[in-house]
Amino acid sequence: MRRKFIAGNWKMFKTPQEARQLAKSLKIKLTDVRRTEVAVCPPFVSISAVQEILRDSRIAVGAQNVHLERSGAYTGEVSAPMLKDAGCSWVIIGHSERRQYSGETDDTVNRKIRLAVADGLSPIVCIGETLSEREGGQTEQVINRQFSACFNELSEDVFGRVVIAYEPVWAIGTGRNATPEQADAVHRQIRALAASRYGREAAERLRIQYGGSVKPENAADLLRRSDIDGALVGGASLDADAFTAIVRAAEDVT
Ligand code: PEP
Repeated sequence: MRRKFIAGNWKMFKTPQEARQLAKSLKIKLTDVRRTEVAVCPPFVSISAVQEILRDSRIAVGAQNVHLERSGAYTGEVSAPMLKDAGCSWVIIGHSERRQYSGETDDTVNRKIRLAVADGLSPIVCIGETLSEREGGQTEQVINRQFSACFNELSEDVFGRVVIAYEPVWAIGTGRNATPEQADAVHRQIRALAASRYGREAAERLRIQYGGSVKPENAADLLRRSDIDGALVGGASLDADAFTAIVRAAEDVT
């Protein structure tokens, strides 16, 4: 049985001071969570503040991006060894907002996965179709293409460290979530792709989160599905009560 995994993507919200407050609330509200794995991904400048608060808790800390090189003259960038040293265990790679605004491609995703894993970080790799792709009946094709490019020539060991977040772009920050049926169908497709590339056991171990307007009101219906192994939560992760309710929904269905 795969352990459900709920991760919060705080995006470009929460100053270090605000992040500390949110982390303190989550630490208190989630003390008794046992069955569900939980992580929060604050902005770079708030990672240390959050890590200090959550150090002795069960909530892990992640980053929202990582640079393609381990070090060098890359002004404004942050590398995998820096994130690891700052206390991160997770890093989100290939979020659609980075693909849209910062030139992230399936190729950079592939390279970042290798780097992150080499430095001891576990990647949450985001894939998903746009609205026009869904409406054009291309979802399956897009997922096939993204899967093969993002995981191109990755070893089974590296793939074993990856969590995939299926995030239909049309559902992110729009309040319009995929139905459990729609999400489940794509999750099954992703697991089948993993099975054909890495074998049945690796595919059974793979955790696939759903992301896109997950809220306390829709979390249980999504998380009840056996191929939906958790959620990557944006907006609702900025509110301690809402995020706690989503984690509780995961605990309740496990
Ligand atoms: C996200 O940022 O990954 C996300 C899914 O955002 P939201 O929950 O706000 O749709």
